[in-house]
Amino acid sequence: MNMDCQYKRVYLKPGKEESLKRFHPWVFSGAIHHVDEELKEGEIVKVCTSDGQFVALGHYQIGSIAIRVLSFCDENVNADFWQRKLSTAFEMRKCIGLVDNPCTNTYRLVHGEGDNLPGLVIDIYGKTAVMQAHSVGMHDSRFDLAEILLRVMEGRVRNVYYKSETTLPYKAELSMENGFLAGGSPDNVSVENGLKFHVDWLKGQKTGFFVDQRENRALLERYAKGRSVLNMFCYTGGFSFYAMRGGATVVHSVDSSAKAVELTNENVNLNFPNDSRHVAYEEDAFKFLDRMNKNAYDLIILDPPAFAKHKEALRNALQGYRRLNAKAFDKIKSGGILFTFSCSQVVSKEQFRTTVFSAAAMSGRSVRILHQLTQPADHPVNIYHPESEYLKGLVLYVE
Ligand code: SAH
Repeated sequence: MNMDCQYKRVYLKPGKEESLKRFHPWVFSGAIHHVDEELKEGEIVKVCTSDGQFVALGHYQIGSIAIRVLSFCDENVNADFWQRKLSTAFEMRKCIGLVDNPCTNTYRLVHGEGDNLPGLVIDIYGKTAVMQAHSVGMHDSRFDLAEILLRVMEGRVRNVYYKSETTLPYKAELSMENGFLAGGSPDNVSVENGLKFHVDWLKGQKTGFFVDQRENRALLERYAKGRSVLNMFCYTGGFSFYAMRGGATVVHSVDSSAKAVELTNENVNLNFPNDSRHVAYEEDAFKFLDRMNKNAYDLIILDPPAFAKHKEALRNALQGYRRLNAKAFDKIKSGGILFTFSCSQVVSKEQFRTTVFSAAAMSGRSVRILHQLTQPADHPVNIYHPESEYLKGLVLYVE
């Protein structure tokens, strides 16, 4: 017990500490009985049972998830604390072979709850770290975190770019701009499994690249030889340049965003300049699937954005996945391979599989599951927080 911690106290309703005792890192606003004093958004609070027993420490925020737990010990959240947390995350990435890897300098160093740092994401792109806060508490600590990060990375990282304009709660009315907290290199070419790509820190989605598909892209490369490939929702074209290296005869990339098509073309050129196998189309994926010829492709990737961000949107999202997959089943060549994904956190593995199953049934084709995919080890799932498992994928053989 550390007597130095002067954090304000939040008292739970009787019995509402149960999930915290099983180390689940969230306190919902409805579980709170009362607070000692008025709380400021982003401040660290002590969570106590109704009779005053300490349960956890966390960042307070206005909203349905009122507290995100940083520790189940009564301790000080200071520079030492952040250093321990970031070091633990770094050691784990060393253990899985992602640090000082000559073929891949792109990986996730901090994955929110998965690394016991709810509200914080840090992706590494060579010498640049892109840091994203999803909570006011993490936003408030950004300068400390950036400084400690440089120390923990022992010279491997020189630049820290902060990119939270779109991830922080709008209502918090924080005055902030995206920008470098340390260093400031314009060099934005990163490497994944030996393939190069530009990272758009400034305007890109997430931290600029979808780091979570690294292993699934490598698997796709193994299936690409001699195939005509359609990469739907291509964004920066990750799957496309892997397909090209794998020996695809044709690779078509589709995204409704002009910026994504531009990024895909740049990245393909970076790896395969003037390669006529690749064409990118700026078009809605559903429309493209409707107008394309049957049997035009024998390898299709469907990696759409999260169709549901909240539980209320679940039904519509499942319908969206079903429609999308049904179109692909309808058009894919016999003997074709479909890589299909969902990154919606609220859609479970079972729900996704059942939805793809019903899309397959609509087409009447014989379909086998070859692989069941998920997020890579640098996006770890906190065993006490099953919600951190979000990426689901199936690789299907379609007769
Ligand atoms: N597969 C990508 C990540 C996809 S992110 C990768 O490996 O990096 C989702 C992408 O879908 C975004 O680029 C977004 O612009 C695009 N998108 C969203 N709705 C779309 C639609 N209706 N048709 C085509 N693309 C769409």
